[in-house]
Amino acid sequence: MTKWVYSFGGGLNEGGAGMRNLLGGKGANLAEMASIGLPVPPGFTITTEVCSAFYENGNAYPDDLAGQVATALHRIETAMGLTFGDANAPLLVSVRSGARVSMPGMMDTVLNLGLNDETVEGLAHSSGDARFAWDSYRRFIQMYGSVVMGVPHHRFEDLLEQSKRTLNVADDTAISAESWRDVVEGYKEIVLRETGKHFPSDPQAQLWGAVSAVFGSWMNPRAHTYRRLHDIPANWGTAVNVQAMVFGNMGEDCATGVCFTRDPSTGENIFYGEYLVNAQGEDVVAGIRTPQPMSALRAAAEQRPMETVLPEAYAELLRVRDLLEKHYRDMQDIEFTVQSNTLYMLQTRTGKRTAAAALKIAIDMAREGLITQEEAIQRVPPASLDQLLHPTLDPNAERTQLARGLPASPGAAAGAIVFTAEEVEERAAQGQDVILVRIETSPEDVHGMHAARGVLTTRGGMTSHAAVVARGMGRVCVAGAGSIHVDYKAQTLTAGSHVLKAGDWITLDGGTGAVYIGKVATIPPTLSGDFSTLMGWADDVRRLRVRANAETPDDAETARKFGAEGIGLCRTEHMFFGPDRIGHVRQMIMADESEARARAIDALLPFQRDDFASLFRIMSGLPVTIRLLDPPLHEFLPHGETELVDIAKALGQSVEALRARRAALSEANPMLGHRGCRLGISYPEIYAMQVRAIMEAAILVSRETGEAIVPEIMIPLVGMKTELDRTRKAAEDVVAAVFGEQGTTLEYLIGTMIELPRAAITAAQIAEVADFFSFGTNDLTQTTLGLSRDDAGSFLPYYVDHGLLPKDPFVSIDREGVGGLVRLGAESGRSTKPSLKLGVCGEHGGDPDSIAFFEQVGLDYVSCSPFRVPVARLAAAQAALLRRKAAEVPA
Ligand code: PEP
Ligand code: MG
Repeated sequence: MTKWVYSFGGGLNEGGAGMRNLLGGKGANLAEMASIGLPVPPGFTITTEVCSAFYENGNAYPDDLAGQVATALHRIETAMGLTFGDANAPLLVSVRSGARVSMPGMMDTVLNLGLNDETVEGLAHSSGDARFAWDSYRRFIQMYGSVVMGVPHHRFEDLLEQSKRTLNVADDTAISAESWRDVVEGYKEIVLRETGKHFPSDPQAQLWGAVSAVFGSWMNPRAHTYRRLHDIPANWGTAVNVQAMVFGNMGEDCATGVCFTRDPSTGENIFYGEYLVNAQGEDVVAGIRTPQPMSALRAAAEQRPMETVLPEAYAELLRVRDLLEKHYRDMQDIEFTVQSNTLYMLQTRTGKRTAAAALKIAIDMAREGLITQEEAIQRVPPASLDQLLHPTLDPNAERTQLARGLPASPGAAAGAIVFTAEEVEERAAQGQDVILVRIETSPEDVHGMHAARGVLTTRGGMTSHAAVVARGMGRVCVAGAGSIHVDYKAQTLTAGSHVLKAGDWITLDGGTGAVYIGKVATIPPTLSGDFSTLMGWADDVRRLRVRANAETPDDAETARKFGAEGIGLCRTEHMFFGPDRIGHVRQMIMADESEARARAIDALLPFQRDDFASLFRIMSGLPVTIRLLDPPLHEFLPHGETELVDIAKALGQSVEALRARRAALSEANPMLGHRGCRLGISYPEIYAMQVRAIMEAAILVSRETGEAIVPEIMIPLVGMKTELDRTRKAAEDVVAAVFGEQGTTLEYLIGTMIELPRAAITAAQIAEVADFFSFGTNDLTQTTLGLSRDDAGSFLPYYVDHGLLPKDPFVSIDREGVGGLVRLGAESGRSTKPSLKLGVCGEHGGDPDSIAFFEQVGLDYVSCSPFRVPVARLAAAQAALLRRKAAEVPA
């Protein structure tokens, strides 16, 4: 016989915290609390397996369920000394849903079940309080009517409001038994009118109606959507908890409350919550009366804290709080009721908390000896650190949403709308807060992005130019907000019926992708000492090294401040856009004879050498990977006529010739065109100049500081070993020349990015000529899925929302597809060269889920934008702990 029903409380505990899958979170914790001796009203849980069986059998219950429920109900009757449906001393019960994980959208609580016109008189008699009995009855009809029978809740509220007006009372507690009796009659009429059915008076029918409503709600559209969004399988099912009622609304020595064992917003170790005297559960959250604080410490003069109003129950609650924290070893969110000064526990669960609270609670609990340091590391969600490192929107601030895009770079920022990078710079120089709004950004906008408070684009995905660059700089960015139309000419942006002009204010929330009209207040980040403590603990356990993607001295400084252990990707093309160099870059590209090209390249050499030298200095001996020029040349070309004329003059060529050259360089699909090492092969002078600049800078800084600098030169977009053969050989020739000229040598590495499927598949061959691999998972995702990283914003969110893809693959690695190629590339590379150093420098290097995967694959390091370094350090530690645990041999 299958056991479908588990009892708890009243001396029989058949479940426990470990049985969450079968009993749901609520049921498992009620049984657990009862088994450690806490005052839990007796009850029983109908298991999640009943829910699954119910749906598998065409909405029918297992045959032996009714018998098991009857036995368990009888146990409650015996424990309480009351009888369900008895006209003199009726047992009343609550019915609540409870899945494995808390699931909004499911059926809510029904209280006071078992009341009808007869039992209400029995309750009035046994409690000696007719007002309380009739108040309980009307609450029951209200809850059951709306939750189980589907009557709109406001129908009941409207009638209640009307009665209060007629009676001229403001507070529910001032309503007499007689008046409640009238309300009950009115409620029953509402039910009949709205549903065409009489309100059920048979307690057994009420019970099964409520149980069926819980199971029915598992498949309602709201619960269905929630499950889809949170990857909860439908076959988990929900449990149903039936529990003896205790009453917080039986007089002034009764109360009900909801509280947290520590402050869930700051993490402070003080009892935090609210309670109401003479009230039932839903009153606290419904806002009908103003709840009062728990602790006297937190109470204002006019408030009535529980500590002073119900001192006995409060003292008992403090004892329970302590017991619960020691038992569960985590902050708990609890619900309780006090009936005639006696405390009863109705629920406990792990409390939700802010990032700051999660951090403080984890560190405090480790120091208090409640948990280990390793557990503390696992208690803080890495992505939540973003909330600590960037300003966030004030949760209490009013706001009007304009549109929503992708949450491309975290933080919150407000500023005036500006449509060009040049104007952003001008206005920012005058001290104004501005937001750069573009359809999409290009390398030419980088200076404006830097000067802006935030960046908004209407096109592009999570690895589009705007997203990658903004993350790198720590600027807020919302990308691909497709419902916004930008008109550069009219200097307006339009979303639905809203038309905003240049200079109007908007606010971006880079954590959610929301765009708001006007200025929404923000809260600055605060980094506590707990933050560095946690980072230190994480560093002690992680195996993966963490580097940063950085090219400017600013980025490198930030990266070090956040604990980066080197630079994993310096995108040299970002250094080509400074006003002092872009002219030379353009001449280099446009020159039609090699002498003019050589002159332009020579002019660029000192700039690059200085750039690299400052990176080496800042990183003082830590590894620095410098990638040679990657993007297609047309990205650097002049767009405007005046710029074209300037270059023509400098090169002594005609404007027409330059225009023709510009047209010749344009490509139908530049992402798959003349870029990466293909450029280095067609224009070897460019790579030669860069290699020379790197080696000269390394020698210079080594001499200056006496530190051994080991530069890592990285060749991008290699698909075939022959490409790396050629570019490596050319680089080695330059290195040898520099060593000869400088009369010295130093160690260096030449490696490649693995960012094309062919490179991953042929990694064993490529490894013969590579000292290291760095997986470029942005391009690898783009090329493996055949999904443009710049155009994905227009349809990818739909894919994710509708379950075609579990997550945006540019954010979190597609383990089966792209991940499979990373694994293959790593294994094949190491089969050729066991010492091959392996890293990842795509945006996935800062994503906690992807980091867990890279730990499994055995990469040596991840590299991510500087602001993500702490996230990566913590995620790497958690991944290492997880892997260690998985490797433990079961006893
Ligand atoms: C990549 O492709 O993953 C990468 C790091 O290079 P980029 O984003 O510059 O193309
Ligand atoms: Mg790339």
